[in-house]
Amino acid sequence: MKKSEVLHAWAAILDGRAPSLSIEITKECPLRCPGCYAFDAAHLGGETQLRELSDFKGDELVRRVLEVIDRERPLHVSLVGGDPMVRYRELERLLPEIERRGVHTQVVTSAFRVIPSAWKEFKKLNVVVSIDGLQPEHDERRKPATYERILKSIAGSKVTVHCTITSQIAQRAGYLDEFLAFWSGRAEVAKVWFSLFTPQVGAVDAEILTANQRAAVIAELRVLRLKYPVLDMPEQVLDEMATPPKSPEECIFARTTKTISADLTTQITPCQFGGEPDCEQCGCLASMGLAAVGHHKVVGGITAGGIFMASDRFGRGWRGIKEAFSRKPILAVEATPFKIL
Ligand code: SF4
Ligand code: SF4
Repeated sequence: MKKSEVLHAWAAILDGRAPSLSIEITKECPLRCPGCYAFDAAHLGGETQLRELSDFKGDELVRRVLEVIDRERPLHVSLVGGDPMVRYRELERLLPEIERRGVHTQVVTSAFRVIPSAWKEFKKLNVVVSIDGLQPEHDERRKPATYERILKSIAGSKVTVHCTITSQIAQRAGYLDEFLAFWSGRAEVAKVWFSLFTPQVGAVDAEILTANQRAAVIAELRVLRLKYPVLDMPEQVLDEMATPPKSPEECIFARTTKTISADLTTQITPCQFGGEPDCEQCGCLASMGLAAVGHHKVVGGITAGGIFMASDRFGRGWRGIKEAFSRKPILAVEATPFKIL
């Protein structure tokens, strides 16, 4: 991140805005992956579910997404879903507009549809392809976005491969090495990222890693990052994975990212998982990346995270004051005995 971008992010926090935005641009997805948090009943807080929201398409989707971006003025926006490639025509129009605004964009997809090679020209775009392990397991969980289809979809483009490690993956020795050996040899793959499966509080999903599995996976990643430079997971990030935040209040990612669902109004809290995620078992790479930045000492014993938390408290207070003042003229007009014609 450049110095000017750090200052932009800090200014946004002080102004009570989130420097990072995540938008579910569609509720539709051709896949039905087990363990998908977007379609989990708790994702939107339990009152309603993603499939029940009204979403948008065509001109209206493009206009409304740009309105959200212009209002929130983020530094970084993730376009997710459902699968955002369901709306690839709209993406073709959105991406140049977002790039023109100087905003970094991440499109997260299963690559069930071809990723246009022309997207490589966008300087601030990262296309992330979600892959659930090696071919047999992945194809079973993610059909129709099978390995064969992904390889066709990414031909000629540049992508980041992202795999969420589940208990099933963690229990097989050598699995991650094999996964990296397969994907690191491909010209289309710029980076590989791993997250660990993050459950809801009290959940008993088969995907949840035991404490021993979690520790073993993190130790293995420390070795694999040296063997495969394509694995973009610094030591500090792995340190954070070993000791995740205890609650959303301690999570810099949750506090700096505003997540908006497919009706472009409903806010997902406390983070992109929605519901009541079990922070102490969190393995979200984005959260751990920001936690590592937060523990960086800026001067003396003061950390970037300490400065952030103080700035965030100030920003939220400041936003409250601004909102109170923006309501005040209406009250003043109602209270005034004079009528202005
Ligand atoms: S591709 Fe993503 S949104 Fe679609 S079902 Fe799978 S995990 Fe859920
Ligand atoms: S990203 Fe992880 S640590 Fe942060 S609020 Fe969500 S579950 Fe908790």
